[in-house]
Amino acid sequence: MATIIGTTVLRRTTRNLRPLSRLLSTETHLKIKLEPYELTHETIFNEDHAELRASLNKFIQKEINPFVDEWENAKSFPAHELFKKIGSAGFFGVNKPTKYGGLGLDYSFSVAMAEELGSITCGAIPMAIGVQADMATPALMRFGSEELKKQFLVPTIAGDFVACLGVSEPGAGSDVASIKTVAVKKGDDYVINGSKLWITNGLQADWICLLVNTSEGPAHKNKSLICVPLNLPGVQKARNINKLGMHSSDTAELFFEDVKVPQSYRIGKEGMGFTYQMMQFVDERVFAGASVLLSMERLINDTAAYCAQRKAFGKSILDNQYVHFRLAELQTEVELLRSLVYRTTALYLEGKDVNKLASMLKLKAGRLVREVPDSCLQFWGGMGFTSDVEVSRAYRDNRLLSIGGGADEVMLSIICKYMGTFPKDQTLF
Ligand SMILES: Cc1cc2nc3c(=O)[nH]c(=O)nc-3n(C[C@H](O)[C@H](O)[C@H](O)COP(=O)(O)OP(=O)(O)OC[C@H]3O[C@@H](n4cnc5c(N)ncnc54)[C@H](O)[C@@H]3O)c2cc1C
Repeated sequence: MATIIGTTVLRRTTRNLRPLSRLLSTETHLKIKLEPYELTHETIFNEDHAELRASLNKFIQKEINPFVDEWENAKSFPAHELFKKIGSAGFFGVNKPTKYGGLGLDYSFSVAMAEELGSITCGAIPMAIGVQADMATPALMRFGSEELKKQFLVPTIAGDFVACLGVSEPGAGSDVASIKTVAVKKGDDYVINGSKLWITNGLQADWICLLVNTSEGPAHKNKSLICVPLNLPGVQKARNINKLGMHSSDTAELFFEDVKVPQSYRIGKEGMGFTYQMMQFVDERVFAGASVLLSMERLINDTAAYCAQRKAFGKSILDNQYVHFRLAELQTEVELLRSLVYRTTALYLEGKDVNKLASMLKLKAGRLVREVPDSCLQFWGGMGFTSDVEVSRAYRDNRLLSIGGGADEVMLSIICKYMGTFPKDQTLF
């Protein structure tokens, strides 16, 4: 059930919250102007990007947003069912060649898609889609053999397979180089032993892009990425981890005990896994920054609409200069992040090293997605503290961004390395 307040839709799903509805006036005293975002004045986007985004938005409004509350409450979403629909619509292979079932477009279309995923009214589903499109598959696309792409990439782009990425372990998160999972050669196979923690899509996934140690030696030269089917003997999907936010996302702990895969399942060269993963992280970080822009803007707009109709001390909350100035400051910050995302994308398209910029935008995004819901929630008062409104969900979900995909401090360390200020006697990678 939904209550329309001006241009804003407030979600009301639970019966016991009905009494609070008397606090929500259905009249708006200020018409909040929500201009459609002008895509075509951006250097990286043209009408084709706008068309892709419009069709993705239509898909989201029909196939995703009506079900978000249900999936969040169930702490799961039907990955295979949804991903098949997304794959059939072509959204998983936007920048992948047509011979693998992709749309054959350039990377800017992938960023346009990531940005439009911000139209989804939670953080978990964009993250799950991002894992499939931009986190578990870039290395396979770049360095995988044709046979491997046929076996894993093609069905993933089609949405027949659900993919996940396995880097983090119980004893190694920020310090990727110190992972302990090993793959030892035996005949034509690798035998894998170890475990992975915090794996998004892990419970429902058909295969994992797994970072393992394949030899002794220096930690950044002894690793490989391997495509591992998750239905093999020895794979145990242990549990769905209870979390502060991102409720509809499954976050698994996975164990590997004497799991045998052919050596041909290795992506690219042996010993290059760490390097490949660092490259894959760039895609992940740009995705992270792009995918939160629209949701932050929606929160700002919804907050303005709510504050416009909510009265205190004889005037609307929005009419307090502190409130409308603060919302203007937040909108300004979002535009700055957008500029950084687009600039990074433009340089990436030119083949430049954007590791520093991608780390900066991930750092900025991680902090801003905490600041925006926190400030907005304050202006919703008690209503902001209920599960009834999107702002409280965003407050919970967005906390992850400063931790996952490289914590803020790891981003700062990378930036310091590029600035030449990282202590010479310390190692990062
Ligand atoms: C919901 C969720 C989904 C995830 N999905 C995936 C996934 O799909 N695949 C995957 O591989 N991983 C995934 N992760 C793991 C995530 O990437 C790690 O949690 C993250 O890299 C941090 O690692 P850690 O949790 O082990 O923290 P630690 O490495 O133990 O670090 C803890 C804290 O210490 C601080 N710190 C760390 N290093 C430094 C430093 N050099 N200087 C100063 N401070 C520092 C930071 O504040 C950091 O947050 C997910 C995590 C969560 C919570």
